[in-house]
Order: sequence, then C-alpha cells, then structure tokens
Amino acid sequence: MKFTFVTLFANLVEGYFQDSILSRAIEKGLICVEYLNPRDFSNSKHAKVDDTAVGGGAGMVMNPQPLYDALKFLKQSDKNVHIIFLTPVAKPFRQNDAKRLANKSHIAFVSGRYEGIDERVVEEFADEVFSIGDYILTGGELASLVLCDAISRNIEAVLGNSESLDVESFETHLLEAPSFSKPQNYEQKSVPSEYLKGNHSKIRSLKLALSECKTKFFRPEQLLKHRTRKSYEK
Ligand code: SAM
Repeated sequence: MKFTFVTLFANLVEGYFQDSILSRAIEKGLICVEYLNPRDFSNSKHAKVDDTAVGGGAGMVMNPQPLYDALKFLKQSDKNVHIIFLTPVAKPFRQNDAKRLANKSHIAFVSGRYEGIDERVVEEFADEVFSIGDYILTGGELASLVLCDAISRNIEAVLGNSESLDVESFETHLLEAPSFSKPQNYEQKSVPSEYLKGNHSKIRSLKLALSECKTKFFRPEQLLKHRTRKSYEK
C-alpha cells in the first residue's frame, strides 16, 4: 500500500514513520510513504498557497490553484489513487473505515491549513472526507496520521500478531476487557484472581463480563447495540 501525504508540512509527518511498527512495515515493503507539497505547484511569484476568503471572514484559505495542480498530477501518476480530505466538518472516521481502506492500493491524505481548503478542490478531487473528532486542529497532518496508522495495522502482516486485531475494541460493539501484565501483584494491587487459574472458559466469561461493564461505563450506546444484536441472533 502506498500512502501520499499532500501537505505543506511534510516534516511534521515524517517522524512518525521513523520508529516502531510503521517503520518496520516500510522496511518489509508492506507500506511506502511519499509526500507532495502543493507549494511546489504554485504559479505565483512567491509560491503562495493561501489567500483571503472571498465574501469576508477571518483568516486565510488555501487557494485552489496549487492544490488543484498537485492533485491533478497525482491522479495522472496513478489513476487508482483514493483521495481523502481531512476536515472537521465530515463524518467521523471509524474502525470499519480503517478495515475497508486497508484493501486500497494507494491512498492520498490531503491536509488543510489556515481556515481550510477552497471547497471547489474538495468537490473536484475528494473520494472521501473524514473528521477525526469534534474539535479543531491547526492542520490536517495529525488527522492524516491517525487514519494512516489505523489503516496500516489492518494491512496483512503489518502487526506481528494479527490475532490481536480480532479481540480489540470496535471489532464488535463491546470494548476490550481490561488488560494486565506481570507481575501478578504490583503496588499491593493484584490482577483478577480468575485470570491466574488457567481455566480458559472461566477467563473468557469473566472477560466478557468486564467488557460489558467497561462498555456500559464508557460507551453505553455501544452496549445497547451489542444487546440488540444478541437478541436478534437468538
Ligand atoms: N475553519 C475550519 C472550520 O471551522 O471547520 C477549520 C480549519 S482547521 C484550523 C485547518 C485544517 O485542519 C482543516 O482544513 C483540516 O484539514 C484540519 N482539521 C482540523 N480539525 C480537524 C478534525 N477534527 N478532523 C480532521 N481534520 C481536521
């Protein structure tokens, strides 16, 4: 899978691929990452990429020409590229989007800056638009990285142990049960005793009960979905 980050600030993104799982995925040839800077496509004398908003309003907007030409170039280089714009006003990105997008061959993430991107560019080039939550970031780079990371771990062989994907939160409507590591006792706190007895069926039941408790506390709407589904299955 190829990822192209369309950004004015590639240096904000690069560091994330220099260590840990995604750096190993690059070494193994499972993913590759490239950058495209709209400023390099600007026709203006000083490589300008922003301008004041037409119709008034505070702040600058990324003007269409540099980004338009950058994305035209990208599509000419690969007609299969799937172009995603990051914007706070879109639908929220979810785990099932990460799984679905892991099957693409090439994804480009377009990061806005300033007050955002001229809407005509979004209309022309966006295959999808996503938000990562109801808050405003200074730019789309962090949001692009969030999507890239979540998608990458669903690409075959990126995770050392792919079984860990199956039990994670959001694979079903339930959140994952609490995890514990060694030692069994730490600072006078013990792990749940059932976890230590080796009876896998009992451990599974306890984990399910703890999962339900956690989901009820943090995401009650998800527990409702879980219970509705279970009652359909009966
Ligand atoms: N003026 C815009 C608004 O009120 O909707 C916010 C622009 S924001 C300062 C600049 C850029 O950051 C956006 O174009 C987008 O690419 C990115 N961004 C900010 N918050 C985001 C979020 N929650 N999800 C995805 N991208 C976001």
